[in-house]
Parts: sequence; structure tokens; C-alpha cells
Amino acid sequence: MRVLITGGAGFLGSHLCDRFLRDGHEVIAMDNLITGSVCNLEHLAGNGHFRFIHQDVTEYLYIDGALDAVMHLASPASPVDYLEYPIQTLKVGALGTHKTLGLARAKGARFLLASTSEVYGDPQVHPQREDYWGHVNPIGPRGVYDEAKRFAEALTMAYHRTHGVRTRIARIFNTYGPRMRLDDGRVVPNFVGQALRGESLTVYGNGSQTRSFCYCADTVEGLYRLLNSDYSDPVNLGNPTEMSIQHFAELINRLVGSGAGIINHPLPVDDPRVRRPDITRAREVLGWSPSVELEEGMRQTIEWFRGSLTGK
Ligand code: UDP
Repeated sequence: MRVLITGGAGFLGSHLCDRFLRDGHEVIAMDNLITGSVCNLEHLAGNGHFRFIHQDVTEYLYIDGALDAVMHLASPASPVDYLEYPIQTLKVGALGTHKTLGLARAKGARFLLASTSEVYGDPQVHPQREDYWGHVNPIGPRGVYDEAKRFAEALTMAYHRTHGVRTRIARIFNTYGPRMRLDDGRVVPNFVGQALRGESLTVYGNGSQTRSFCYCADTVEGLYRLLNSDYSDPVNLGNPTEMSIQHFAELINRLVGSGAGIINHPLPVDDPRVRRPDITRAREVLGWSPSVELEEGMRQTIEWFRGSLTGK
């Protein structure tokens, strides 16, 4: 298979490149590098099955030769990033999805959209099933990401229904692991970086909001299976083990062995109170469920961050 992975220099995109290459496929990664980094791909230099194209996916895409699949992962993906790049976030979700769908259609390729649990906004149904339509503030600071992804899903379904493109939609919940950027502002790199530097962990609000964290290898496996399925409705990919952010902070301090404790900062605007995927559909359609326990995945993630902080 010959596959284009947009956002291929990002955290999840680069793990996906590795996964396709490991299975003997040919990979073209595309990234404009505003939040991705070539460091995530440097181990692939010289690999004859791999090519990197430095391009913004909102511009006209030209790929010569056949393509069997387009995986559209390009987007700023952390609240701090999409607040810094609000217009780019809207553009990559809207124009970038249009360009990549057009490319998939022209090449007769399968198309997978990396959507997000943010389409559910601050959910009033818990846990979130795919048939829940969500509770999103379109003009709030997170709206640039949430609405871009909701538009992207609508456009993906339109290409499926109108042009018969074999599309897939993954709604990815909080994912963590090696190659997250230390400064991307998300809770995992923030807490691990703070704990490793001996600083107090910054819990926003009173820490009672919940999240469910999925290890990147599990998410990548789900994306891979979804692409190869025949299922065109959205599928949640995430780990249903839910915990409060306060509890998560205590876990990180314990795993790192940090005694610096916790300090509270103000809760960001529109921060979802709860989030947990219902993964019944992924189990039934893909035979998929996460297999890496949080403590095990966090130990590997902490070791990776320790190495990057000390330059090893
Ligand atoms: N959070 C926190 N401290 C931090 C960073 C994030 O308490 O230093 C909280 C944030 O308010 C949210 C949760 O952790 O409730 C997850 O935030 P993240 O930015 O990872 O992504 P989100 O799940 O909100 O998209």
C-alpha cells in the first residue's frame, strides 16, 4: 500500500508512519511543521520506503503516482496550540480536509479523517457514544478546533455520499506517549515535565474534571484497523478508564517520585467537565480495545521525557 499521512511529523502522525513502514508499506508524510517536528521522523532518514514533503496541506496537493490511502491527521491538536494558531486550525480542518478528500477521490484512495472527542464539546451525555451530537460553543476559544473538526466530518460524509469515496472517521480521545512536545500545553507533557523538573504540578480548576488517557500504540492500532475496515460512520478511539485530573496529578507525582505537590490554576474557558469514550462500536466493528494500562504507558512516557530533558 502507498499511503499519504498528513501531519506525519506530529506526535500521532509519526507513530503512524512507523506503523505503516513496519508492515512493509510505502509512506509519504506531509507537514508544514508549525506544531510537528522533523525530529519525530529523523530515524526514518534513508529509508527507501519513506518520503517527507514539507507543505501546508491547505494548499494544492500534488502527489505523483498511485495512492491507496490518505490519512488526514494534520492539525494543531492541543488547546494551547490551537489558541495560538486559531486561523490555521480552522483552515486545516476545512480547506485541508477539502484538499485531501479531493486527492483521495482523484486517486481512488481510501480516506481517514482524524477527528476528535472535541466534537462532543462539554458533553451532556456520559460516556460519549458516536450517536451523541455534542454540546459545543461555536464562538468560544476552543470553537476553532471543535467546529473545524465538525465541518471536516460533514465534508468527509459528503464526499462519501456524493462521490463514493471510501471514507473513515476516527474520533480520537486524549492520547499520550513518547514524542509529545514538552511545551504543547497538554496535561501529560505539562505534568511530566513539571514533575521531572521538581516543580509543582499545575492543576487547572479544582481538578475534578475527568479525562480518559489512551496510549499512542493503542490509538495507532485502532486507526490502522479502521482504515482497513469498511465502516464509514464515526468510530470512537480512546481508553474508557476515566480519572479526575487531581487523581492523575497524584499518579504522576508518585510515578516520578516527586514531592513538589500540586498548585491550582484557573480553569480554562469551556474546559469539558468530563470525557470518556464508549468504545462499544470500536470493539464490535474493529475488534479493537486498548491493551496498555495507564501506569505502564505512563512509565514509558516518563522515561522518554526524561531522555529528552537530559538530551539522551
Ligand atoms: N490541565 C491541567 N493542568 C495542565 C494542563 C491541563 O489541569 O497543566 C487540565 C485541563 O484543564 C483539562 C485536562 O487537564 O481539564 C486535559 O487538558 P489537555 O490540555 O490535555 O486537553 P483537553 O482534554 O482539555 O483537550
